[in-house]
Amino acid sequence: MSAFKIAVFEGDGIGPEIMKPTVDLLRRMSSVAKTYDLTFENLPGGAGCYTDMGESLPKASLAVAGAADAILLSAMGLPDIRYPDGTEITPQIDLRMAFDLFAGIRPVRIPPGGLSPLKMPAGKSVDFVLVRESTEGLFYTQGKGKVEHDEARETLRITRGTSEKLFEFAFNLATDRKAQGQGTGRVTCVDKANVFRAFAFFREIFDKTAGEHPAIEADHAYVDAMALWMVQRPWDFDVLVTENMFGDILSDLGAGLMGGLGVAPSADIGQDHAVFQPCHGSAPDIAGLGVANPFAMVLSAAMMLDWLGLRHNNTEMAKDAARLREAVDGQIIGRKALTGDIGGTARTDEAVAALTDALFAAA
Ligand code: NAD
Repeated sequence: MSAFKIAVFEGDGIGPEIMKPTVDLLRRMSSVAKTYDLTFENLPGGAGCYTDMGESLPKASLAVAGAADAILLSAMGLPDIRYPDGTEITPQIDLRMAFDLFAGIRPVRIPPGGLSPLKMPAGKSVDFVLVRESTEGLFYTQGKGKVEHDEARETLRITRGTSEKLFEFAFNLATDRKAQGQGTGRVTCVDKANVFRAFAFFREIFDKTAGEHPAIEADHAYVDAMALWMVQRPWDFDVLVTENMFGDILSDLGAGLMGGLGVAPSADIGQDHAVFQPCHGSAPDIAGLGVANPFAMVLSAAMMLDWLGLRHNNTEMAKDAARLREAVDGQIIGRKALTGDIGGTARTDEAVAALTDALFAAA
C-alpha cells in the first residue's frame, strides 16, 4: 500500500464549493483502493487569506505543499482584492514559480456526443493536449513591469534550459499517448517565429529536441493560425507546445471548444512537484449560490491520480483516474444532472450526487 499526502488549497469564491465534494470522492475511492491511500491537508492561501493574514501564500503553506506528494488547488483570487500596485494576488502563479512548474497541461477532449459549440463532423472526436510553458515567456516580468511617464514595458523571456525541459516533456507526452493509442504521435510547436527573434530561438530549440525523437512527427504553426485551426479542425492535433501567454489564451479557447471553463481541467507539472487545478477562476459572480460546476475540479483530480500513478507505477490509480473521467463523460453524454454553465439546471450537489451514483452505486 502506497501512502500519498495531498496538499489542498480550497481557495476563494466557488473554490471550497467544488473542492469539498472532489476531496470526498477521492477519499471514498482511496478508502476502497487496495494499493494506495490518500490523506489530505487543507492549507491557507488566496485572496481571503491575504485579507486575513496579509499574505496570499503563507510560507508555512508553501512548506507543507512542497513536502506533499501532490497539490490540489481550486481557484484563487478575487477581483477586488489587490496589491498596492493594482495587480491581483495570484498565488496559483507564485506556486508555479516556487516549484518550477514549467509545463502547464491543458487537455482538450470532446468525446462523441460531448459538449461543444462546434458542429462536429460525424465520427470525429477531439483529443489533444496543450502544453503551456508556465514560468517565463511574457509572464516573466509579472508584477515587475515598468510604467514610466507615458510608456509601459514588460519583458518576454525564453531560456534554453526551460525550453529544452518543456519540449522534452511534450515529446515524452506524445510518445506515451501514442503508446496508449490516444494520439497519433505528433508535436506541434506554436509560436510567432515569423516576427520575433525570441520565437525563432524557441523554434530552434524545438527542432533540436524533435531530432532526438525521430518516432514522433514534429511541425510548427503560428499562434494566430493555430487559433483558427483549433476551431476549424481541432481533431487534427495531438500535442501542442507553446509559450506562456499564447498558452494562456489558447487554453481558454480549448475550454470553449469543449463546452466551457466548467469542464476544463489542468495540471502544472515540474520535475518534482505538480499542482492540479481547473482552468477557471474563483467565479465570484456565482459564489455561494450552490450552482458551480464541479466537473473541471473532478477532472483535475483525475489528472492528479494519473500523474501519481505514472510516477509511482500504480496501475490502480490510473484506473481510478479513468473511472472519474468516464463518470463525468457519461453524465455529459447522457445530458444528466448538468449545471447551468453547460446547459443544465442541476445544482452542484445534484451534479455531484449523480457522479457519486455512477462511481459507487454498483459497489
Ligand atoms: P472565472 O473563470 O472565475 O469566471 C469566468 C466566468 O465563468 C464567470 O461567468 C463564471 O461564473 C464562470 N465559471 C467559471 N468557473 C465556473 C464553474 N466551475 N461553474 C460555473 N461557472 C463557472 O474568471 P474571472 O471572472 O475572470 O476571474 C475571477 C477571479 O478568479 C479573478 O480574481 C481572477 O484573477 C481569478 N482567477 C483565478 C484563477 C486560478 O486560480 N487559477 C484562474 C483564473 C482567474
